Amino acid sequence: MKNIYDLTLDELKLWMKENKESEFRSKQVIEWLYKDIKNFDDMKNLPKALKEKLNSNFTMELPKVEHEYTSRLDGTKKLLLALQDGNLIECVIMKYNHGNSICVSTQVGCRMGCKFCASTIDGRVRDLTAGEILLQVIVGQKVLGERISNIVLMGSGEPFDNYDNVIKFLKIVNADYGLNIGQRHITLSTCGIVPKIIDFADEDMQITLAISLHSTTDDRRKEIMPIANKYSIKEILDACKYYIDKTGRRVSFEYSLVKEVNDSLEDAKSLGKLLKGILCHVNLIPINEIKENSYKKTDSEEVKIFAKILKEYGVETTVRREMGSDINAACGQLRRSYMETQK
Ligand code: SAH
Repeated sequence: MKNIYDLTLDELKLWMKENKESEFRSKQVIEWLYKDIKNFDDMKNLPKALKEKLNSNFTMELPKVEHEYTSRLDGTKKLLLALQDGNLIECVIMKYNHGNSICVSTQVGCRMGCKFCASTIDGRVRDLTAGEILLQVIVGQKVLGERISNIVLMGSGEPFDNYDNVIKFLKIVNADYGLNIGQRHITLSTCGIVPKIIDFADEDMQITLAISLHSTTDDRRKEIMPIANKYSIKEILDACKYYIDKTGRRVSFEYSLVKEVNDSLEDAKSLGKLLKGILCHVNLIPINEIKENSYKKTDSEEVKIFAKILKEYGVETTVRREMGSDINAACGQLRRSYMETQK
């Protein structure tokens, strides 16, 4: 059965019309979805007949919290959620001084095949619906008992491999009838699907775009990211420039540092040259080591030197603070380890 959280206000209005109900009921129903109620019968201002119709057409079930892990180091929470069809997904809630942030998944698994990533090892199972992405935020707020003010689409899955559902999610989560989270407080990360970067620029949104670059040459990038066989770094950067022109927003480049793979002084210099002059920001991420491969993280002293070189090129750089390292907080790690224990 369709989950009502998958509908935009316009879609619900259309449903009301088709079902001979007044249009204003749609707003009433949608507002209830963000209050602490469990089912349609709790929607007190609706006539009984409408509640029955809703009951026979939709569910408003939330994903079940299968497991909740809290980091003793920094309070980061990782949730393992079971969807209606039994598939498992994970999301991570991080507490910062500027507010709570959630990292959501956009697919069950992933088919992009990046060598260092745990989410992609068994491929893609299916896309998440807009509602399933949204419900991670809603459940996250319930578990936390606090508002979540920032969202990053950096969990399992490639957002641009599930484009329509992701756009729909972004519209619902930003709407004033919804969670009302500002577009400027949302970051979407992609491995670099160029035509979708262009489409995204044309959506006229104010979302921060993050690109997983991880290498400065196409040959090296192909070794760790299969998507590099399809789109070159030049094409990605051109698409980013288009995004910057259209939105006026700074693009963020993620560079996961892998020991002796992409972390030399030469790499830092060539990254500096590549990005110099682009309205951007680099996020250096010491790789999260996973047991399925032998990649090792760059030593922290070397990370500092790498960052310093980038700054010398005028490229704004931050080193991502590692959070929740005691609770398998890297992409896809939790789902995998949990599924292994169930085998
Ligand atoms: N599919 C999207 C978003 C998911 S991952 C993308 O590729 O951007 C979010 C970021 O974490 C990406 O930059 C991804 O390359 C990186 N990542 C994945 N596994 C990692 C690991 N084990 N260590 C460090 N970064 C990792």
